Order: sequence, then structure tokens, then C-alpha cells
Amino acid sequence: MRLTTDSRIKIAVQKSGRLTEHSLELLVRCGLSYSRGKDQLICYGENMPVDVLLVRDDDIPGLLVDGSCELGIVGRNVLDEQRLAGGAAPSPATIQPLGFGSCRLALAAPDGGAIGTLAGLDGSRIATSYPALLADWLQARGLRADIVVLNGSVEIAPRLGKADAICDLVSSGATLAANQLREIATLMRSEAVLARSPHAQGVVATQLIDRLCARIAGALSGAGARLLMLQAPRSALAAITELLPGREQPSVVGLDGRPDDIAVQALCSSSPDWQQLEELKRVGARNVMVLSVERMLA
Ligand code: ATP
Ligand code: MG
Repeated sequence: MRLTTDSRIKIAVQKSGRLTEHSLELLVRCGLSYSRGKDQLICYGENMPVDVLLVRDDDIPGLLVDGSCELGIVGRNVLDEQRLAGGAAPSPATIQPLGFGSCRLALAAPDGGAIGTLAGLDGSRIATSYPALLADWLQARGLRADIVVLNGSVEIAPRLGKADAICDLVSSGATLAANQLREIATLMRSEAVLARSPHAQGVVATQLIDRLCARIAGALSGAGARLLMLQAPRSALAAITELLPGREQPSVVGLDGRPDDIAVQALCSSSPDWQQLEELKRVGARNVMVLSVERMLA
């Protein structure tokens, strides 16, 4: 039986783009199962009352601001641009960064051209899809420039004679290099974040949001985590604890019929490498096992 609308929440996710696959995969890792048909804009959660709304990333801040969605996964760059452009309107709160979609908003100008430094930007024309972030950054540095708003292909603006410099998202820098552009400054670093609507209220919504957020945090913190299991003489415990990656406090249990021996379990923030395993063995560990951690709930 499908629950009524007010007992469900919606999370907005990019429909088709750089963040789509990671976002949907994260929701699956949180235990959400949903059916995604062709051209479906809403996927109904089948085992949790959390529906997924598939939209353009630029629409996500607005959907959060007007309360159409309780949660959203979107680049911090898009969220901050909307916040600056939106003035005094209540803006979505960032709950947590999600560890994918890393990039930076950077200023770049034609390699070997007249603009080589920040001062050279004064009085220039700068093409960007992020006018509010750029205006804010220029103002903070006392620089004046004409901002030319373009919604795509910003990197070719200088070649088309539309701008003297650009302000665009960069990850590897390959697109800049391919267009003979040289980076002059970084305005901000960005990654995908989980954001919450300022209107997400009510007991049911709050409980669902808290539950999903705890699962997301668990899925993220479990990502690189490993469970280390070993046996050792009790006398080696201090030396073993010293060697554990992340210095987690291990669980120690006795072994039946072997009073001098213990079994040790430790949650490590990353996988111990071979050298660390050899050192553990050298101080007395036996039967050392490293297991992946699928999910955690603190
Ligand atoms: P949409 O059709 O949803 O509006 P889009 O073309 O605006 O898509 P994408 O290019 O898919 O968006 O980028 C989505 C987000 O991915 C960006 O807002 C940014 O946070 C992040 N990102 C990571 N690396 C890059 C990059 N090299 N260029 C652009 N965006 C990047
Ligand atoms: Mg977009």
C-alpha cells in the first residue's frame, strides 16, 4: 500500500549528468530500492517512503527553496550561486558533503594573452554560468568587470570574441588546456552535497530525513573502512593496538581453552597495507584477516 503524500519525502537528484550515477548509487547503498522507468521524473521508493525526483541540477535549489522537495543532491557551486542570487530568501541548508563531483570554479584567460594576473581582469569581460559567485568574488577584491552570462560552452567565449576571460568549472583542467586557456585563480572548491529544504518540517518528514541522513553518513563512512580480525597472545595487545590504522580502540575477546590468547577485532578507517600486516605478524598476530565493511550505523 502506498502511503499518503505527506508521509513521504522527496529527494531531488540530477536527471542526467555528472552527478546522476553517483547520486543514485549512493541511495541504493542506503538501502533504497525504486523503479526507474523510461522518462520517469519521479521514482517511487519501494521499501522506504522516500521518492526520487529526477531534474536538471539548476532546478534543485529552487525546488528546495519552495518546499517541493525536502532533500536534494547538488553541487555546492549550484547551491551557492542560487543563495547569492536569491538575496534574502531562505536558502537550503547543507547537511553534508558527499565525496563526489569534485571540481573548482576557476578564472582562466587565453594562454599568452593580455590577461596574466588578477589585476589584468579589471575592466575585462568575463564569460560565466555563475554570475552571482563571480560578482561576489570580484567585489571582495575590488575588481570591476563585465560579466557575460552564458549557459554552456563558456570555454569558447574568448575565441568567439565574446569575452576576454572565463569563469568556469574545472576538474582535471583538460578542457582549459584544449582551449588554450590558462588558469588565473580559483574562486571556490566544490563537490556534491546533501541539502535540505528550509521548509522541511513536520514529525514524519523530520524522522525520515534523519533516518536517511544517518544511512547516508553510514554509507559514506563505511566506504573505505575495513574490519581487521586477528588472534594473538594477550601480551601483544598493546603493540598490536599501536599498529592499527586509525588507532581505533579494538574489541578484544578471550578464546575458549586458551587463556593466554585473544581474538581482536578493529574497525579501521582505511585498509591496512601488506607492510602493516607483516608488522602485526611480527609483534605476534596470527590468522590476520581484512574484511570490507558494507555498511555501518553508528
Ligand atoms: P543539467 O542538465 O542537469 O543542468 P549540467 O550540464 O548543468 O547538467 P553537469 O555538467 O552534469 O551539469 O555537472 C553537474 C555538476 O557536476 C556541476 O554543477 C559540478 O558541481 C559537478 N562537476 C564536477 N566536475 C565538473 C566539471 N569538470 N565540469 C562541470 N561540472 C563539474
Ligand atoms: Mg545545470
